[in-house]
Amino acid sequence: MNILLLGSGGREHALAWKLAQSRLLSDEGDRLYAAPGNPGIERHADLVALDAADHAAVVRFCEERRIGLVVIGPEAPLVDGLADSLRAEGFDVFGPGKEAAQLEGSKGFTKDLCQKAGIPTAGYVRATSLANAAAALENFTPPYVLKADGLAAGKGVVIADTLEEAEAALADMFGGGFGDAGAEVVIEEFMEGEEVSFFALTDGASVLAFGSAQDHKRVGEGDTGPNTGGMGAYSPARVLTPLLRGEVIERIVAPTVRALADAGMPYSGVLFAGLMLTREGPKLVEYNCRFGDPECQVLMMRLEDDLGELLLACAQNRLSRVQPVRMRKDVALTVVMAAEGYPGTPAKGGAIDLGDAEANGAKVFQAGTARSAGDLVASGGRVLNVTAMGATVREARERAYAAVDAIEAPSLFCRRDIGWREAAREAE
Ligand code: ATP
Repeated sequence: MNILLLGSGGREHALAWKLAQSRLLSDEGDRLYAAPGNPGIERHADLVALDAADHAAVVRFCEERRIGLVVIGPEAPLVDGLADSLRAEGFDVFGPGKEAAQLEGSKGFTKDLCQKAGIPTAGYVRATSLANAAAALENFTPPYVLKADGLAAGKGVVIADTLEEAEAALADMFGGGFGDAGAEVVIEEFMEGEEVSFFALTDGASVLAFGSAQDHKRVGEGDTGPNTGGMGAYSPARVLTPLLRGEVIERIVAPTVRALADAGMPYSGVLFAGLMLTREGPKLVEYNCRFGDPECQVLMMRLEDDLGELLLACAQNRLSRVQPVRMRKDVALTVVMAAEGYPGTPAKGGAIDLGDAEANGAKVFQAGTARSAGDLVASGGRVLNVTAMGATVREARERAYAAVDAIEAPSLFCRRDIGWREAAREAE
């Protein structure tokens, strides 16, 4: 069959790489299309200039090319209802519809759902005006956790140590500092613990565990400096023991899937749970309605099953008949190489020579890259995701950094300590 993958980041490069190996594409003439894609994705797919915001154009393309499966990578088109527009025309789509995607699109929606379903998460208050929000601060103790309700590309959360800082942040949010995302604010209790991500596929009824990962959000070594989209990740996250994973499925993921189905908005796609391992057990920090970026890259490196068949089974509500997902036991670790200036304004146009970075089994997934007169150049904040496998985090990390060092790209930088927490535990 023909498959259309939407997106253009490192996540989509990893998805394209794995989809290209699928049996779904084994007939002669089967095509994998990617829109808009990037120079890395181009090695596995035919790139097409489609705007995911133009639903009619995407539907038309799917009709013309007889697309058998549409895979939507990023959150924005999901929150915008692209999956609904395609399903209405009879296409099989991997990714939730607009209503279920509110799990990521509205933090207030998710908190209300958790409260109703008894899902462990931080206590909270929703506020739609500065006066209400400022008054609500009285019910919390520092550090204050303040979140713009809508999508803010990972930048909508402020953790304020003092009341003054919290009030200033609220004024900024309601003053339009976060655009529409800040029209409503959620104030939360601060949860203490280690963070971990858990991924599950669901078709609205069945839940299939997909794996765990830990990422590094801060730009600087030792997890310091401003937040980014993610500077690196590794999988599996062994701190999420089988026991804890069972608890997460039973007390957090499965009740969420049930609650959404009961509300008439069944969730279909990958559910990405951001969790805090607190002293009272795992609690939900947030949901995302798509694979993480860069977590997807490490999950795809470990996946032994046919990604296309898994995503199609999900899209066709057949997950109850699918065997547990098989992942390599080894660790996969990815290092993000970002353009100088990121997460502020990144320098564009820096030359990139990948050299023989992939010679020893590492994979270089491309994110913000472009071609300029035939040469590969940087075109965004996060540019390359250099990914390697190993028996331990230490081994995977050594291989990933060896691959990083084989790349000639003077305008890019990376953190040198990805996986430090787990590497330290391994050394104990
Ligand atoms: P992301 O980029 O992860 O999608 P986001 O803007 O959707 O970010 P959250 O994941 O909800 O926001 O929060 C961002 C980070 O803030 C979390 O990864 C966590 O480190 C911290 N955080 C959020 N809520 C809490 C909380 N209640 N207690 C402690 N830390 C929190």
